[in-house]
Amino acid sequence: MNCPYCGHIDSKVIDSRDTFDGIRRRRQCLACSKRFTTYERLQPVSIFVIKKDRRREEFNKEKLLSGIRKACEKRPLPTGAIDRLVDDIESEIEGLNKAEISSVAIGDMVMKRLKNLDYIAYIRFASVYRDFTDITALKREIDNLVSDEPAGITSTSQLPLIPEAELETRIKPRHRSRK
Ligand SMILES: [Zn+2]
Repeated sequence: MNCPYCGHIDSKVIDSRDTFDGIRRRRQCLACSKRFTTYERLQPVSIFVIKKDRRREEFNKEKLLSGIRKACEKRPLPTGAIDRLVDDIESEIEGLNKAEISSVAIGDMVMKRLKNLDYIAYIRFASVYRDFTDITALKREIDNLVSDEPAGITSTSQLPLIPEAELETRIKPRHRSRK
């Protein structure tokens, strides 16, 4: 708050006390040394989301929640996991103490958490949230997902087509040739 006498931007707080609906501060201007009082009212702070097309939109927790729910549809998640995730993001956003945040930054917060929670939901969310300029990154993520799958997952669910003894002889030469 600028000094009401000289307009200087910096002042020091010489006294501060709580009132029933906020905080009253006695301040002294660092330029002209005159004293003035400010009142801070407590009110919920609106945070605006800057979208990719530069439009501003008030941060809406419900909207974020429904977007994440959609990505997590039919995924075997623990009860309340999505709500906790959104609460967590909300407090991270509030903790930034900024009036604005980009939708991309929020998307990154979501993806960081979904990645640990459920990979399929993560990929779904990423494909909606990131635009086509990021399709290479998305493809890379999917490739990683495929290569992360445990090997031999099909062989446990069906009988081996080759008898084990024969399989062994087929595998052995490969072991030898590696040396
Ligand atoms: Zn002043």
